[in-house]
Amino acid sequence: MQQLQQAIIERGSVLSDEVLKVDQFLNHQIDTNLMINIGKEFVNRFQDCKITKVLTIESSGIAPSFMAANELGVPLVFARKKKSLTVADHVYSSGVYSYTKQEMNNITVSKSYLSSDDHVLIIDDFLARGNAALGLIDVVKEAGATAAGVGIVIEKSFQDGRMKLEEEGFRVESLARIQSLEGSKVTFLEELAT
Ligand code: 5GP
Repeated sequence: MQQLQQAIIERGSVLSDEVLKVDQFLNHQIDTNLMINIGKEFVNRFQDCKITKVLTIESSGIAPSFMAANELGVPLVFARKKKSLTVADHVYSSGVYSYTKQEMNNITVSKSYLSSDDHVLIIDDFLARGNAALGLIDVVKEAGATAAGVGIVIEKSFQDGRMKLEEEGFRVESLARIQSLEGSKVTFLEELAT
């Protein structure tokens, strides 16, 4: 997706050979026009899948998921990282190791918002080692629902997240695929058309 690749090149910063910072348009300040187009692109890719719910993880997954859910005309559900007093015990849960915070989070989703009839599109901002997406897939399985696919805004293709998800039989659609961050330079798997 050209607009996204352009944003990564012009407004992202490479923190190390493994980590990209995109606070300027996705993780802190949000470029709403870009999010609208990201939502539309996810819908293009998954429109044949009879999605009934979009599932993401707070907080950075919410913005890109919002427009996709709105365009599909289905609810957006986000997994919580911290237990909420108002949700109490009626939850599906999974342990997820956080790539950026380097700590375990117990993610939870209320049993009220996922059921065995649901065809769920999972969306997240980044794909690195696949832990967040696999945790969300666990929650979907616990509900007896179907994971229709995984939509990712930025995939770091040099890490093994996609391989793990594909090995489990899941379809992965990433809007930007990064081959390398070496030398403080972003190299995409599919370069921008010039
Ligand atoms: P995974 O669970 O696939 O290892 O990592 C994905 C999660 O970690 C995403 O939810 C995202 O928040 C965070 N993450 C992983 N790599 C990066 C990165 O390079 N930059 C940022 N900003 N977040 C990342």
